[in-house]
Amino acid sequence: MTHVATTSDAPTANAEKVNLLDFDRQGLREFFVQIGEKPYRADQVMKWIYHRLEDDFGRMTDVGKALRAKLEATCYVGPPKTLFDKAATDGTHKWLLGMDRGNAVEAVYIPEPTRGTLCVSSQVGCGLNCQFCSTATQGFNRNLATSEVIGQMWVAAKYLGNITHQNRRITNVVMMGMGEPLLNFDNVTKAMSLMRDDLGFGLASKRVTLSTAGLVPMIDKLSDTLDVSLAVSLHAANDELRTELVPLNKRYPIAELMGACQRWIARRPRTSITFEYTLMRGINDQPEHARQLIKLMRKLPTGSAKVNLIPFNPFPGTRFERSDADVIRAFQTQLLNAGVLTMLRRTRGDDIDAACGQLKGQVLDRTRRQAEFRKRLEEGASHAA
Ligand code: SAH
Repeated sequence: MTHVATTSDAPTANAEKVNLLDFDRQGLREFFVQIGEKPYRADQVMKWIYHRLEDDFGRMTDVGKALRAKLEATCYVGPPKTLFDKAATDGTHKWLLGMDRGNAVEAVYIPEPTRGTLCVSSQVGCGLNCQFCSTATQGFNRNLATSEVIGQMWVAAKYLGNITHQNRRITNVVMMGMGEPLLNFDNVTKAMSLMRDDLGFGLASKRVTLSTAGLVPMIDKLSDTLDVSLAVSLHAANDELRTELVPLNKRYPIAELMGACQRWIARRPRTSITFEYTLMRGINDQPEHARQLIKLMRKLPTGSAKVNLIPFNPFPGTRFERSDADVIRAFQTQLLNAGVLTMLRRTRGDDIDAACGQLKGQVLDRTRRQAEFRKRLEEGASHAA
């Protein structure tokens, strides 16, 4: 089922107003004090926004009339606009959300029997250029604002009918959409604190996960800032191959990355880190690669590392292919036999290009990477010819 927005964007009546989705709890309280209100009023309004998903101040009935009028005059609750949304045959739902002229990001909801996971984007495009990710082919435009990150969850929750706070459809959030969340640190951590906050979406720390390609100093900073879960996109357990797949590895090689992971776990002994490993045929899926991965995982205390195997999802123009099912099974078995907790991520939503690494949105590239990528493709094609 496909829905396309029919209303044109309203003229920017909100241009001079403050978007309340840009504040975490602390920020909202400070803002209320600035406009001459008691901080507890901010808490009341937060509950309306995140528990009741209300964006109309007029309906916030336990907020006094005078305050309602003041809020209407100075602020708004402004989630991103849904440009397009689509459901896959397996129930996965994808939204294309308009940010500003020409830029759009994607958010994906993945229902499972016992939980519902929302995959959220952090940037318009991405600058890290991981070789096997379609977002990288689009280049980078800008960081998302806090309102644009938490707004993805607001839009999805509203659509899914998350009307009551308790009986919610979104039980987990992963920052695994477009972009590198640790390169948009302040806005992403503010949005994630709203996902965690009891007055916000109220999710437990193990249900809110930030995924990073491995920005070592920022992992330490996150550890100091917020109680959430960590996922690390590893994809290879030796530096040569990892640098080829994830160029950021040149700056922060595996030993340094594992150091940050050890520090993370030392501060949270009862938690675990998820290591994502996208399996590409003939690239990183051989028994030797599994052995290297096992050795690396043993650098963390028993039980504190989980490996999440992701069969590669193809996209137009990629030179990679998905590993064969029996190779994937053998890889998983080798890890399990060595005592490494290993899950295999089922591919979801691939009929609507909503699977991992397939998110594209619309990026007005500011880095020329797109042009470079096309050039490389053409060169590749002419070599092959
Ligand atoms: N920049 C962050 C957040 C993006 S998450 C990070 O790198 O973790 C994107 C996840 O999707 C990564 O873990 C990666 O493993 C996965 N991914 C990217 N491209 C993929 C593809 N083509 N097929 C399968 N998984 C892919």
